[in-house]
Amino acid sequence: MAALDGLPPLRDVIQRHGLDAKKALGQNFLLDLNLTQKIARTAGPLDDVTVIEVGPGPGGLTRAILALGAKRVVAIERDPRCLPALAEISAHYPGRLDVVEGDALKVDFQTLAEGPVRIIANLPYNVGTQLLVNWLLPERWPPFWQSMTLMFQREVGLRIVAGADDDHYGRLGVLCGWRTKARLAFEVPPQAFTPPPKVTSTVVHLEPIDKPIPCAVSALEKVTQAAFGQRRKMLRQSLKPLGGEALLGKAGIDPQRRAETLTVEEFCRLANCL
Ligand code: SAM
Repeated sequence: MAALDGLPPLRDVIQRHGLDAKKALGQNFLLDLNLTQKIARTAGPLDDVTVIEVGPGPGGLTRAILALGAKRVVAIERDPRCLPALAEISAHYPGRLDVVEGDALKVDFQTLAEGPVRIIANLPYNVGTQLLVNWLLPERWPPFWQSMTLMFQREVGLRIVAGADDDHYGRLGVLCGWRTKARLAFEVPPQAFTPPPKVTSTVVHLEPIDKPIPCAVSALEKVTQAAFGQRRKMLRQSLKPLGGEALLGKAGIDPQRRAETLTVEEFCRLANCL
């Protein structure tokens, strides 16, 4: 059965172009166009934005984004085998899809598009967290993106949205909580992917906070790294290399507390006292 966009079913595309999944590239493809549309819809209105997609693969999510009316899509794909399949989509949507061949970890995303940008991706698990952190770290804020709608392993999704006193709270939760409003949109079971991964996945939607608590990224990184590096220890111990009790006293934080009990605001206070 042909897909609603008039392009061939993804299974045929994969077979015709010999796109058997490579584990080293984190290739777990989504072939259900209803599901890819659900992910694309989670991002919000797409008409006036450029969507940056990392890892389009055979193009299931790319097709959904274009079918939902994205003005333009810039997709970065590392696997050259996928390029002919993506070229067919490009031809079907003239002038709306640009494919960049390369490693997303080395791309300067700020220069890819002008105007409002949304990032949507079913990320390769091996580089997903690093990409997210890169998009959260620039000193300049608000960033170049208006929203990010990203697929992660469920475990990573829980870490992204975790706050104080949550078992999954850590450096990622502080960074995301400081600069974004992040929510879990919905879960995706292993059998939705080809081939199925071992774990459940989750789609996370993040939007930047306009004015996060003023704080230097590097200082916040230092504090959270030390505090969560020894998360079961009291802060007077784990933060010793950064000033221990003196630093905690200056920030007005009880030295007997542990990292996982501190709110994002308290981490910022510590960073600002460094
Ligand atoms: N978007 C497709 C889908 O939903 O079916 C494929 C998603 S698959 C989980 C991840 C994709 O990222 C693969 O196509 C893989 O080749 C690509 N990829 C892996 N590492 C990459 C990197 N460093 N930079 C860009 N793309 C990468």
